[in-house]
Amino acid sequence: MVTRIKVMDDRLINQIAAGEVVERPASILKELMENSLDAGAQTISIECEHGGMKRIRVCDDGNGIPKDDLRLALSRHATSKLTVFDDLYSVSTLGFRGEALPSIAAVSRLRLRSRARGASQGWEVVCNGGDEVSEPKPSPHDTGTTVTIEDLFFNTPARRKFLRAEQTELSHMDKVLRTMALARFDVGLEFNHNGRRGVVFKPALNESSQMNRITQVCGEAFGANCVYFEQTTGELKLSGWLGLPTFSRSQRDLQYFFVNGRAVRDNLLSHAARRGYKDVMYHGRHPAYIVNLEMPSAKVDVNVHPAKTEVRFRDTRSVHDFIYRSLHQVVAELTPGDTETLQSGANSSVMQPRTPFATAPSVGTGFQNSSFQNTMRLPATDQLHEQMSSYGQLASGPANQVAKPPELNNAGPGIDASHQDIPPLGFALAQLKGAYVLAENEHGLILVDMHAAHERIVYEGLKSQMDSDHVAVQPLLVPLTLSTSTREADAAEQHAELFADLGFDVHRMGESTIKVSAVPVLLEHADLPTLVRDVLSDLLELGQSRAVEDSINELLSTAACHGSVRANRQLTRDEMNVLLRQMEATERAGQCNHGRPTWKQVSLTELDSWFLRGR
Ligand code: ADP
Ligand code: MG
Repeated sequence: MVTRIKVMDDRLINQIAAGEVVERPASILKELMENSLDAGAQTISIECEHGGMKRIRVCDDGNGIPKDDLRLALSRHATSKLTVFDDLYSVSTLGFRGEALPSIAAVSRLRLRSRARGASQGWEVVCNGGDEVSEPKPSPHDTGTTVTIEDLFFNTPARRKFLRAEQTELSHMDKVLRTMALARFDVGLEFNHNGRRGVVFKPALNESSQMNRITQVCGEAFGANCVYFEQTTGELKLSGWLGLPTFSRSQRDLQYFFVNGRAVRDNLLSHAARRGYKDVMYHGRHPAYIVNLEMPSAKVDVNVHPAKTEVRFRDTRSVHDFIYRSLHQVVAELTPGDTETLQSGANSSVMQPRTPFATAPSVGTGFQNSSFQNTMRLPATDQLHEQMSSYGQLASGPANQVAKPPELNNAGPGIDASHQDIPPLGFALAQLKGAYVLAENEHGLILVDMHAAHERIVYEGLKSQMDSDHVAVQPLLVPLTLSTSTREADAAEQHAELFADLGFDVHRMGESTIKVSAVPVLLEHADLPTLVRDVLSDLLELGQSRAVEDSINELLSTAACHGSVRANRQLTRDEMNVLLRQMEATERAGQCNHGRPTWKQVSLTELDSWFLRGR
């Protein structure tokens, strides 16, 4: 039998459209809050019942809707936010499609009450399951709008079945609320569930109240372990709070990205951020951040998806690189000074926790530029070289750059005279169990995980060699022959150039044999067969060139790990001091490549409190 084509009626159209916008109570909450924000609300209060499935009520103090527009607000494709297509490329509002309210009304019982700014009274309209909207009738209301949604999906049972347990729906709504709280610090939010008082976010207009809100949303630990940053390049501005690498997560649950105030989920952005943290994140761990990208609205298309959580950039590449570079730089500058907070504990009165609102880290704030550098007490250069060669094969690494003779007269102005020759990580006292270096600095005791610290130094050394494009290569006296799988040998052949970039000379010898005839000087004593096999297995797994490039750093980090001083090596006091100085001069020395801390400060105050010594 032939089925005839029919034009759908409005109710059906709206119900279908609701599929895109209204997935669950949380998506309704998002749309309603966005409308409130677009109307200039300063306070939004939300009440809901049964995970929002029974009832969601959003009340705001925004500009309201004039009586004559109330019914229009519920009709499809009606919006006050744009008139011509090109407006889409200059939208400053969160909504613009004019379909949220009619879509929601099509699958619930909706009541819209509002009093427009300047109007003498409030009015309300109702719409049940997409039926015709009622005539406005008077309804008491302050300036602003209240939208009440009841019995979600009451008329579309098939969709109701997709709703989950109350607690699940509630947690989705909670996520929406938290995201809004971070997008708009200036707006007060209140959320109640089943008649019980829930979260309250007061408007946060200054730095300390913003910090409180962040702590409220992301937890104490994030609050205590994040830094505020701002970076600008041309028309792009990036700012926000970055979690210290030592505060990594097993989930991506603390990653907030906003583009021009709109929360977005975007692979490009999260990829760029992941890369920004690459060097300091342990495999399988995720960084935590709140990042805002501001850019001209003409350069970003927000009309990609009905839920408006995706965006498209006109110049994908430059946005990606800007984000990557910015985060990378900020993370790189988190040298020991910044992680002190984390490591010394918030109680220490000697070292005040660094608040995220301290000035944004700027280029080159590491210890390199600090006045400490000039006043380091170090053995003379030739003495150092001797120590370094006994220290390992790493004298050609970053040590040389650090091991400058002291220039005592060169201390910059403004340094406290009593502290002027104590470097940040102090001077070595002793070694504990062949694994830890104990040192004394201005604030008290420093404990260094030797292996982790050295790993970081070697890694950064390898990386700067890679970057400056001249890895020192050491031909092997006896080339190494490795039997591999055919696939591995294929990969070795195919990626010979990449191996060469890494400082390896690798050739295929046969079906399943490869020969390694040169390696980076720095790795000459590493476990080469394992290293080469690791490289190969990564190449096989990753395949694509971008991913391969990414993996180089990971490889270097593996390499650094194999090449670093193992625990249980006795170091002389001078060797320990060299290690401390190298750490100060190395970017990201606060963590090892795996995101573990490399050192810890125990302040005198802490020590005193251990021994109940009032000072
Ligand atoms: P959009 O937000 O895309 O314009 P909606 O269906 O969400 O579409 O809303 C339709 C219109 O109703 C909006 O353009 C706005 O004029 C009005 N509106 C909705 N909610 C509010 C509110 N809370 N305060 C003031 N106006 C509102
Ligand atoms: Mg809207």
